[in-house]
Amino acid sequence: MCEDCRRARLGRRAFLGLAGAAVAAVATGFTAAPVRAAGGPRTDLTADRALEKLTQGNARYVSDAQVCAADLGGQRAHVTGGQAPWATVLSCADSRVPPELLFGGLGLGELFVARNAGNLADTGVLGTLEYGAAVLGVPLIVVLGHQKCGAVAAACDVATKNATFPGSIGPMIEPIVPAALAVKDAGGDLVTNAVKENARRTVARILESSPIVAGLVKSGNVKVVPAFYELDSGKVSFLA
Ligand SMILES: [Zn+2]
Repeated sequence: MCEDCRRARLGRRAFLGLAGAAVAAVATGFTAAPVRAAGGPRTDLTADRALEKLTQGNARYVSDAQVCAADLGGQRAHVTGGQAPWATVLSCADSRVPPELLFGGLGLGELFVARNAGNLADTGVLGTLEYGAAVLGVPLIVVLGHQKCGAVAAACDVATKNATFPGSIGPMIEPIVPAALAVKDAGGDLVTNAVKENARRTVARILESSPIVAGLVKSGNVKVVPAFYELDSGKVSFLA
């Protein structure tokens, strides 16, 4: 937390009459994830521990979202020589879904991130995930879909109304259409169901298309999990 935010936070808490211990607990919780010095060792976190940290960070974001992105200048100094991120997130390009923020205000050097509309595993993304897992030693890959995803909604329109889209948008969302078709009669909210199905299918595609990631999963060094971010509540659910 930067000094400006710390002062503002302390002032706000004092004004609210909350105990100093609570302030310390919040501050400690927020800074509990140190930025790892890089250029040498990889993260020593397991996939399960990385998943636990993401879950805790998202809970912090949901319950106490008034956090800033910490001491960015100090973090930058720690990661100048290299990086040792502990989780990879493939998320949508949607401006409401920045992984570092919705997992609790993570700083520089913590998450390895790939983003595109619809969180799809194209060649560029597959290479990115492979680099993260095999070269940087990241133990966890999360494919994060989200509520009210425009790319998935467009694919649902293709699946149900034969909609067409200009330029490269049509080909871009094409890989999502099978997910939309698979759930179009499932009942409930079509886009939400298709987002979850698309995240699951993206995980399957990663494992099918990348022998490198599949091998690391098989050897127990990496986990790949689909997840769903709810805009309304801010909660991330990891999907089975
Ligand atoms: Zn989206």
